[in-house]
Amino acid sequence: MPTTTKTIFVTGGVASSLGKGIAAAGLGALLRARGLTVAMMKIDPYLNIDPGTMSPFQHGEVFVTVDGAETDLDLGHYERFTHEETTRTNNITTGQVYDSVIRKERRGDYLGATVQVIPHITDEIKSRIFKLARETKCDILIVEIGGTVGDIESQPFLEAIRQVPHDVGHENCLFLHLTLLPYLSAAGELKTKPTQHSVKALREIGIQPDGIICRTEIPMKEAERKKIALFCNTSQQAVFKSRNVDVIYEVPLMLHDQALDNWVVTKLGIITHDAKVDDWRALVDRIKSASEEVTIGVVGKYVDLQDSYKSIYEALAHGAAHHGVKLKITRVDSDGLGAGQELFDELDKVDAILIPGGFGARGIEGKVAAADYARRTGKPFFGICLGMQVALIAFARHVCGLEGANSTEFDEGTEYPIVGLMNSQKAVLDLGGTMRLGSYPCKLREGTKVRASYGKQEIRERHRHRYEVNNKYRAQMEEHGMRVAGVFDETDLVEIVELADHPWYVGCQFHPEFQSRPLKPHPLFRDFIGAAAKAARQVGAGSASSIEETVG
Ligand code: GLN
Repeated sequence: MPTTTKTIFVTGGVASSLGKGIAAAGLGALLRARGLTVAMMKIDPYLNIDPGTMSPFQHGEVFVTVDGAETDLDLGHYERFTHEETTRTNNITTGQVYDSVIRKERRGDYLGATVQVIPHITDEIKSRIFKLARETKCDILIVEIGGTVGDIESQPFLEAIRQVPHDVGHENCLFLHLTLLPYLSAAGELKTKPTQHSVKALREIGIQPDGIICRTEIPMKEAERKKIALFCNTSQQAVFKSRNVDVIYEVPLMLHDQALDNWVVTKLGIITHDAKVDDWRALVDRIKSASEEVTIGVVGKYVDLQDSYKSIYEALAHGAAHHGVKLKITRVDSDGLGAGQELFDELDKVDAILIPGGFGARGIEGKVAAADYARRTGKPFFGICLGMQVALIAFARHVCGLEGANSTEFDEGTEYPIVGLMNSQKAVLDLGGTMRLGSYPCKLREGTKVRASYGKQEIRERHRHRYEVNNKYRAQMEEHGMRVAGVFDETDLVEIVELADHPWYVGCQFHPEFQSRPLKPHPLFRDFIGAAAKAARQVGAGSASSIEETVG
């Protein structure tokens, strides 16, 4: 561990879903705004090695890092708030920790010792925390412990972080505990008892939180703050509130207004300039003051769970903030609405259409129909990964005349496999092994719209998919107006396509949403929203003129 790195541990109490990841990331943003370098780690106490195999229904989005790790969606918050890239080192799970300890045991690394949770598992956890500090050489490392204090699963992690101050010095560590103050309407007050109990549970295992952040639905009063400080053994200045905000990018500002960042650096003995938060303020103002509405229809099957498309929704919001328009997202269920009129009626109401990534055949025909609808009607369209694949399937079927064209993922025996596995992949039986994951370069073709969007020829984008566009059909697609606008040179794979003759119709095999940042929107999302806003204005102007006509 570099002696210069200071570590902040963030634990959660009382309930899950308190927005611990966003609060931790918000603090990261503030410390960065003070000129410090910040790295963030998420500890997930589940036994899966990573969330790659988990259903987005249950777990939300899988966030992909540049080095191809499938990680928790909190890493997305970290990247968006700190504008720093993460890698596989930034996310650890119980599964990874046990996996590596058991491997070491089999190799004989423990020299005959009885291998136990303490010290072997806890040492492994600490070594991973120290490794991230070493590799990033950050001034501040923020470690978020998933789950809630009191869970059986998180015990070894809490024990490990309890030990860290003994290894690196108490003056180099800070413990922050995020809790909930429930509001009881009958009593008309916020209750502090669950927080007291949660802190008691932490203290039983030897952790005294330095600061407490209280999530509340109504404002916390001074009396409640005093009570928490007294019973949780902290100073009053160390009790902060986290109320619900309309825009998540307000979180750093909300924490800054309570001088959380100042308290943190003072506690850790770091001298910095004040946090420069003007850009965050300007961003939040732009988002809040926008009035011109732009509606994006997101056609997917996981639409029930908001978190499944987290990074996409955020990237759309970044684009909307850039243009100063108000983003409205309509979730269009590709499974329930079918592939006919009912679906088109829904799509009629939106200004632009986005089809995100996905796996499996369910809802596919609805997505193909939606992509085709966008092509026919001239509505701006953005297809991401699976979204691009269905756009090409639709184009092959309806423009190139290749009836029944499909991806072999959905129809193995299709006569026209527009999308399929490459021969080199077919040999590999292990499903996980054939996935293209992480960042790959792509060369953009001169004269294309996307080349103009990016403003450069060489780009790098993150991937997470198994199937690829079949080069056999490339020329035929091009002849009919579907331009291959960028390829991965090394294996000549199609990475991005666009319709020449359409206001904005783009499909990409990669996931640009992972690289969009609030203060630096991704060019494709920026320009997609730009096209959507233009479409919305035309519709507005169209209906206004028809009213005039009627009146006239
Ligand atoms: N299911 C498709 C594939 O594996 C698309 C994956 C995705 O959209 N992430 O290629």
